[in-house]
Amino acid sequence: MAVTSPRQSDAMPERTSTILLVEDERALREALADALTSEGFVVKQADTGAAGLAAFRAAPPDLILLDLMLPEMGGIEVCRSIRSSSRVPIIMVTAKASETDRISGLDLGADDYVTKPFSSRELVARIRAVLRRAAAGESPAAVGSRLRIAEAEIDLEGQRILRSGSVVHVKPKAFQLLAFLIQNAGRVYSREQLLDRVWGYDYAGETRTVDVHMHALRQAIEAVPAQPTALQTVRNIGYVLRRSA
Ligand code: CA
Repeated sequence: MAVTSPRQSDAMPERTSTILLVEDERALREALADALTSEGFVVKQADTGAAGLAAFRAAPPDLILLDLMLPEMGGIEVCRSIRSSSRVPIIMVTAKASETDRISGLDLGADDYVTKPFSSRELVARIRAVLRRAAAGESPAAVGSRLRIAEAEIDLEGQRILRSGSVVHVKPKAFQLLAFLIQNAGRVYSREQLLDRVWGYDYAGETRTVDVHMHALRQAIEAVPAQPTALQTVRNIGYVLRRSA
């Protein structure tokens, strides 16, 4: 990780946290800045994606509130750029719920999404939750709550896969598949059952989708993906996750 965010204390991280607010609508940006300042946050503002990226690089905040629709350099591009070097918490702000669905499927690495219009109370609750997760993920005490699967540590609450201390990015669906198999370790599921249980009964995809996500998960957590010790194939049936004792 090239950039780390300064943190004061795990006990009350929200009281001293700096938030970078990237939003081009001036009235909304200023209203949000006022609301967050009155909640005890230090707020920095940027009105374009490029300005937001520059502000992030100059002084990494504790959390970034990033609007999706920005002129020139959009929120998706900004998020990707930041994620190439940092795990700083990012909450994406979208104008429509359908946008949230779309961008959350892009695996941008955002920690949460809020859809306009939202109340400042809702936003503050989301910000505090994301900051708490980030602080917990970085404190040594939280390591015990992670599960060791093959070569990786799985942070179910933070929805992260860590390998040698670094986050390995997989698509949200792949993580959901892994979480489902962890919760049902030792039980064999067919591809159809996994589609039903993880993707949902309405999903019209093909069973090959399961294979693609399983391949990605094996790359993420297995020492030798072609010879998996945890995410095993059961011939002619499907898959099972086996946890070593
Ligand atoms: Ca906007």
